[in-house]
Amino acid sequence: MASFKDLGLSEEILKVLVELGFEKPTDIQAESIPLLLEKNKDLIGLAQTGTGKTAAFGLPLLQRIDPNNKATQALVLAPTRELGQQIAEQLHTFSKYQTKVSVLAVYGGAAIVNQIKALRKPQHVIIATPGRLIDLIKRKAVKLDELQYLVLDEADEMLNMGFKEEIDKILSYTPDDKLTWLFSATMPDEIKRIVRKYMDQPIEVKVNTKNEVNANIEHQYIVVRRRDKEEALLRILDSDPDIRGVVFCRTRLDTQDLAEFLMRRKYRADALHGDMSQAQRDKVMKRFKAKSLQVLIATDVAARGIDVNDLTHVFHFTLPDQNAYYTHRSGRTARAGKKGVSIAFIGSSDQYKIKMLQKKLGIKFEAKEIPSAEDIVAKAVEKWCHEVLETKTKGKLDEQLIEQANMLFGNLSKEELTAKVLLNELQKLNIGSDRDLNDQLKQRGEGGRGSDRDRGRGSRRDGGGGKNKYKGKKKFDRSGRSSKGGKKKNKYPEGFSKDAKNRYKKKKKKA
Ligand code: ADP
Ligand code: MG
Repeated sequence: MASFKDLGLSEEILKVLVELGFEKPTDIQAESIPLLLEKNKDLIGLAQTGTGKTAAFGLPLLQRIDPNNKATQALVLAPTRELGQQIAEQLHTFSKYQTKVSVLAVYGGAAIVNQIKALRKPQHVIIATPGRLIDLIKRKAVKLDELQYLVLDEADEMLNMGFKEEIDKILSYTPDDKLTWLFSATMPDEIKRIVRKYMDQPIEVKVNTKNEVNANIEHQYIVVRRRDKEEALLRILDSDPDIRGVVFCRTRLDTQDLAEFLMRRKYRADALHGDMSQAQRDKVMKRFKAKSLQVLIATDVAARGIDVNDLTHVFHFTLPDQNAYYTHRSGRTARAGKKGVSIAFIGSSDQYKIKMLQKKLGIKFEAKEIPSAEDIVAKAVEKWCHEVLETKTKGKLDEQLIEQANMLFGNLSKEELTAKVLLNELQKLNIGSDRDLNDQLKQRGEGGRGSDRDRGRGSRRDGGGGKNKYKGKKKFDRSGRSSKGGKKKNKYPEGFSKDAKNRYKKKKKKA
C-alpha cells in the first residue's frame, strides 16, 4: 500500500498530514492524487461516503496552486454553506505550511460586504455555493477568467436544489481549458448529465463502487406506526446514552416538529434546515460538533456531505424517495474507517422498500424491535452497577463519614440497602418523560398494561403503577417520575420563529 509520500505530495503537505494523524492514504486518495497531480485531464472520483474525498481533491489542488500568480486559480462548488465551510476548513488546514496560498469560502447568508472586502486580496482558491458566487461575479468581486481547476463536490445535490442555471452561468465565466474534477459517492442520472455537459473525456476513478454504501455501516429497520415513531426514537436514545447521531426527516417542518418534541423532553437535540438563518445554522452545527447536542434533526439537503466525528447512528425517520439519498444519509456515520449504525423507521406496508434498497444498494438490513421500557431500565441499572463497582473509594472519603453512614444503615440487610439505593438512583435518572404511547395503545385495544413492550410502564393519566412506586426491577415507572420534573414550556428551536412555523404548517413543503 502506497504512503502519502509515494503519491508525490510536497513536504509542506506531508508535514500537515503527519500532524493530522493521517497515516496512510485511503483508496480513493491513493488512486486519484497521483493522477490529479500529474495529468491535465478531467476526472471523476467515485468512492463511498466518509473515505476522504475532500483530501483526495484538496491536496493535489493546493499543491498545484502557483502562489506567485495572484489570480483565482481554483474554484470548489458545493451545494450548502455547511459543506462549503467544512471544505474550506479542511483546505485551510491542509495549506497550513503553504503560507503563500490563500483560501476563501463565500456563501449566502453571511454579509456580502465582508466577502467583497476579503476578495480584494488575491484568493487562489475559492470555495462557494452557486447563488452567492453569482452575486459576487456580478458585483465584479470575483474574477474567474484565469481559473485552472474547477471542483464539483456533491454535484448532483446542486442540480437537485435547482442550481442548474447558476452553474451554467458560473461556468460561462471560466476558461474552456480549465480542468474539472467531480467527486461523489453515488452516480445518479444528474451526475451523468453533468459529466456529459461539463466534462471533457474524464478519467474515472472508482473505488469499491460495487457497493457504494460505506461498508462499515450496519443497517437496521424497525417496523413502527407513524404515530409511534417519536416514542420509538426516544426509547432507542434512552437505551444507550452514548448514541450521537443525525435523524433525517423529509421536510423542513418535520425536522422542526421532531426537534421541538425532543427538546420539550429535555433531549439535547436541534434542527438543521434551509429556513434557518446562517447564524442559527452555524450555532447548531457548532454545538453538534462540540457534542453539546446529542442529535441533529436534519433534511437531506442540509446534511449532505457533512463530516462530524464519531457519530454512532443515523436514523431515517422516514425513508428517502431516492436510493442515492439513503447512501448519503447513512454515510454521516462510519466515517474515516469507524463503524456506525443506520436505522430506518418504516411502516408495515413499506417492507418492499427495504427489499428494494437491499437489492439496489447491495446491502443487508436486519429487522429490529423497539427497545421495551424494561430493556431500557435494565440497561440503566446495569450501567449504574458497573459504575458503582468501578468506583474507587480508597482515601477519598473521611473514615468518620463512612462510620456515620454505617451506623445509620446498621440494621439494614445488604439486600435492603441495595434496594433503597437503587430506587434512589432510578428516581434520579432522566429516562424518558411524559409519554402517552401506553394510553394510545390501550385505546386501540392493543398492547397496554401487561403487553410485552409496555409492561411496567404506568401512564400519567390513569396513575399507572402508582406514583413513584417501583416494584422490582420491571416495575420502573418512567412517566410517574417525570411528572415531578415540571414540564418545560414549548420552546421553538433556535432559528425558527413562530411566524415561520405557522407558514410551514400551512404549506408543508419539501426541503
Ligand atoms: P467524504 O467526502 O469521502 O465523505 P471526507 O473528505 O469528509 O469524506 O472525510 C471524512 C473524514 O476522514 C474526515 O474527518 C477526514 O479528516 C478523515 N480522513 C480523510 N483522509 C484520511 C486519511 N487518509 N486518514 C485518516 N483520516 C482521514
Ligand atoms: Mg465529501
